[in-house]
Amino acid sequence: MMQAPNVHDAEPIPAAARAEIDRLLSSGDLFRYTAPQDAPVALLEREFAALMGVRYALAVSSCSAALFLSLKALDLPRGAKVLIPGFTFAAVPSSVVHADCVPVLCEVGEDYRIDLADFEARLDGVQAVLVSHMRGHTSDMDAIMALAGARGLPVIEDAAHSLGTLWRGRRIGTIGRAGCFSFQSYKLVNAGEGGIVITDDADLVARAVIMSGAYEHNWAKHMAAPDPALEAAFARWQNRLPLYNLRLSNLSAAIIRAQLPEIPRRVRAGRANHDHVAARLDAAPWFSVPEALPGEERAPDSIQFNLLGLDESETRAFAEEAAARGVKVQVFGLSADNARAFWNWRFLPGGVPDLPRTRAMLMRACDVRLPARLTRAECDMMADILLSAAAAVMEGQRAYGT
Ligand SMILES: *Cc1c(COP(=O)(O)O)cnc(C)c1O
Repeated sequence: MMQAPNVHDAEPIPAAARAEIDRLLSSGDLFRYTAPQDAPVALLEREFAALMGVRYALAVSSCSAALFLSLKALDLPRGAKVLIPGFTFAAVPSSVVHADCVPVLCEVGEDYRIDLADFEARLDGVQAVLVSHMRGHTSDMDAIMALAGARGLPVIEDAAHSLGTLWRGRRIGTIGRAGCFSFQSYKLVNAGEGGIVITDDADLVARAVIMSGAYEHNWAKHMAAPDPALEAAFARWQNRLPLYNLRLSNLSAAIIRAQLPEIPRRVRAGRANHDHVAARLDAAPWFSVPEALPGEERAPDSIQFNLLGLDESETRAFAEEAAARGVKVQVFGLSADNARAFWNWRFLPGGVPDLPRTRAMLMRACDVRLPARLTRAECDMMADILLSAAAAVMEGQRAYGT
């Protein structure tokens, strides 16, 4: 019997974080605004902005908080419609609702990317677009920016799962008006919880900084160097915005900063692992792994594939066979209360829409974790198990029983 690798444990936090965490514990200086300057959170923002090649970054408590603040910072009227993909995590429509806006869902194709014809058809009456690169699958950003741009609509990127992904050489998260990332444990950089917004827009970041909880003149601690445009924006919004207090703690910043140098290795290893397993699965008749789009360089830490020629009961049997061999396969549409199945977003104002294409995709799209730390041999074990589980169902070679 093959021993399935553990795909759930996180990588250890680099030892480099220890000294800084010890220093913070000794001083008790955990709040980003205690120090007059250069608090760990402020340093993280500077380093992350430099890494992404943008002017501004604001670290917050989660990617959901980052999405919420980005939408609030757009200053949309209450009840504004925001277009989002019908395949994403429930946090995304939730952030729209939280921002007093109304999510409008568009269809997602079987390659897990936004269906551009449906996207375009739903743009009328929408006041902003929130693109979610679900599981790091990049939708065609050229087409999306052109369609939204032609109507003057701002685009926010949910890049929670796209740290390190490139689109025609540009970093995902830097293409829209703002990009939002997550440091939750299942993402490329793990601080337990955390998020960050990046943008080149001084007015947007000034609004987001104040609403994130920069009370009084704490916004001054967000300026690494003199920046007249940013200072003018802070002056414009002083005392005019509510404070939602979605700040990040210095401890989290220390944990994140120690992992920034790890990003290139994790991206490289994650992509190599994914592409190796994808090629093995794709060669079998039961699997189809959608390819990256031309111009897309992915940074996966999991693999998604569609089952070919399996009906719903065979799909369930495949997941059971894989589980019996130690690999958890999530079929987005088949597990109860799945947070990525839009019909479970029953909090949506106006009810859950009908998205037949997205629904059909979710009923057979499989999701398997494939962390960057897996060795080639472990990746082969994952592929062996998935292949043998499919063969068991489709060729009658069950793991046990008759
Ligand atoms: C994880 C994730 C989020 C939410 O991130 P949090 O930091 O947990 O709020 C949003 N969108 C996508 C695509 C995600 O993968």
